[in-house]
Amino acid sequence: MIEFRSVTYAFDDVPVLEECSLEIDDGEFVLFAGANGSGKTTLLRHCNGLLTPDSGDVLVDGTSVAENPIRARSRVGMVFQNPRDQFVAATIGDDVAFGPENLGLDRSEIDERVGIALEAVNLSGRDDERIAELSGGEQARVAIAGALAMEPTHLVLDEPFTGLDDPARRSVLERLEALSADGTGVLLATHDLRDVLELADRVIAMHDGEVVVDAPPEQAVEELEGVAVRVPRC
Ligand code: ADP
Repeated sequence: MIEFRSVTYAFDDVPVLEECSLEIDDGEFVLFAGANGSGKTTLLRHCNGLLTPDSGDVLVDGTSVAENPIRARSRVGMVFQNPRDQFVAATIGDDVAFGPENLGLDRSEIDERVGIALEAVNLSGRDDERIAELSGGEQARVAIAGALAMEPTHLVLDEPFTGLDDPARRSVLERLEALSADGTGVLLATHDLRDVLELADRVIAMHDGEVVVDAPPEQAVEELEGVAVRVPRC
């Protein structure tokens, strides 16, 4: 479980999150909606200690992220807006192996994790291909595989569709749907809600750093219209 307890955070004295409290259960698919600048990235970066609260606390499975960020990172995988920022190796296989290698695992376990992660994103057997030569959608899927190789309980994706065409976006969404069905928690921030609402168990909408809607998708769509977050009809 990921738990926010009265989290307050400011950039240069400008408050972004104020007294934010949330509980996200294992296995939930949570969609974070809201306009640019509403605080989605800031909130999500607290889930594995990339940012730490000015006051309040974030807990992953009962342990404070600020006190034990390494534990949080082993449970909460992050996929950033531009996957190119997160690659550390030239080939698919080497990149996905990087996280498990840093855990000091045996080669056989590393290979097994890479195989499972690549299968989960439909890139099995493509270990030796160069990342620079892949399409945007394939790169996004490699970034997801890199996070999955750490065997996280939750995957956090911040605007993962940026720069993807519709088929690539669809392929990433299909992978997220399959991961969610297998029990991985998904926290997805996007301002583009097409085809995403129906996958979510829960929609959290932010506005000016506050959670203004927290509801199942159908109910959230109605409530969102009241808070000026534009969404397509389900
Ligand atoms: P979203 O992900 O919803 O677009 P962000 O969390 O990125 O929202 O931004 C929330 C607010 O925090 C915005 O007002 C933004 O300008 C501000 N902000 C984000 N990152 C920084 C930063 N590194 N320095 C200063 N202000 C920032």
